[in-house]
Amino acid sequence: MQNLPSGERVNLLGLTQPALEAYVGELGDRPFRARQLARWIYKRGEARIEHMTDLAKAFRARLAEQAEVRVPEIVDVRESRDGTRKWILRADASQAFEMVFIPEDDRGTLCISSQVGCALDCAFCSTAQQGFNRNLTTAEIIGQVWLAARELGGSEAGARLGERLADRPITNVVLMGMGEPLANLRNVIPALKILVDDHAFDLSRRRVTLSTSGLVPQIYRLAEEVNVALAVSLHAPDDELRSELVPINRKHPIAELLAACWHYLDEQNGRSVTFEYVMLEGVNDSPAQARGLARLLAGHPAKINLIPFNPFPGAPYRRSPAEKILRFRDELNAHGLIATVRRTRGEDIDAACGQLAGRVIDRTTVRLGRKSFGLVVQP
Ligand code: SAH
Repeated sequence: MQNLPSGERVNLLGLTQPALEAYVGELGDRPFRARQLARWIYKRGEARIEHMTDLAKAFRARLAEQAEVRVPEIVDVRESRDGTRKWILRADASQAFEMVFIPEDDRGTLCISSQVGCALDCAFCSTAQQGFNRNLTTAEIIGQVWLAARELGGSEAGARLGERLADRPITNVVLMGMGEPLANLRNVIPALKILVDDHAFDLSRRRVTLSTSGLVPQIYRLAEEVNVALAVSLHAPDDELRSELVPINRKHPIAELLAACWHYLDEQNGRSVTFEYVMLEGVNDSPAQARGLARLLAGHPAKINLIPFNPFPGAPYRRSPAEKILRFRDELNAHGLIATVRRTRGEDIDAACGQLAGRVIDRTTVRLGRKSFGLVVQP
């Protein structure tokens, strides 16, 4: 199974159905036990093996000796005036990552991270400023959804995913938190499989969206492995500007990226790619640039999501004024494209797009003669 340091237990969280079946087999039981286990873990949110009462006692005992359901530790929670909630989760002693829940009238979207930090260095993103620390494991990626379902649930019915829609606080999952998901495909693909697996979280592939800055070969890989909804951070209508804003464009220019997008859609019926476009004042927000963007995308199954720039300390850009954003949108619409403006959520708790910067420093403080261990998020 997994190569673990002696004494460390197998983490059941993050094993895909075939891996869980193989593990159950190693323990000498039959494959259907894996389905029962998955239902306990993902649908009922149960982490305690001894509470999984329809598993035979002897099997439970064997399992409890070697395995566990291990989720990331919550370091802090913040709630915005608009109901958006952000959790800061511990990656290791000195690093953290973040996830954000965005409640809306018709859906509840959980935005999860795939890496601690990011190596792609996009000029307008605060995660980029902290550099790359490490990939999250499959268990840490899927653990975010598990934890949020538990935290938002309150009741057993609420904590359960995969029952009636009305009982589910989380209806959509987007990989738009910290990190570049396609740079961590090894761990992201199993996590996506667990999200859409009907024995596990059982989300429709349309309700799971992966956002990428444009790692072209990995878009082709993803199309083969698990065809979830795709969002692409385009942000500019031409290669010169895009290479400045999204440096990976120097390696995979726009034409190559768009070809990968249309190929991705060949595997899906009646769907479209969402192109994200951050609105930076005086940089990429002119009507001529809107027309340039329309020329690139017109006639293709594309939607454009305009994201007002969210500032962070030291950011070298300003948000385009609202009128300019609307003008840009209208220009796109006039050219037959579907363009919408993303409502900024959770800005007061630094939970908005591009504001996630979960760098945490270790702090051992001595208070009232007691040694307390605390984590402080750097501004
Ligand atoms: N690395 C992936 C996913 C994470 S970012 C990607 O690049 O797509 C999710 C979205 O927020 C991306 O479109 C990203 O470009 C955008 N974004 C980053 N910084 C932002 C900021 N400061 N303001 C608004 N949007 C931002």
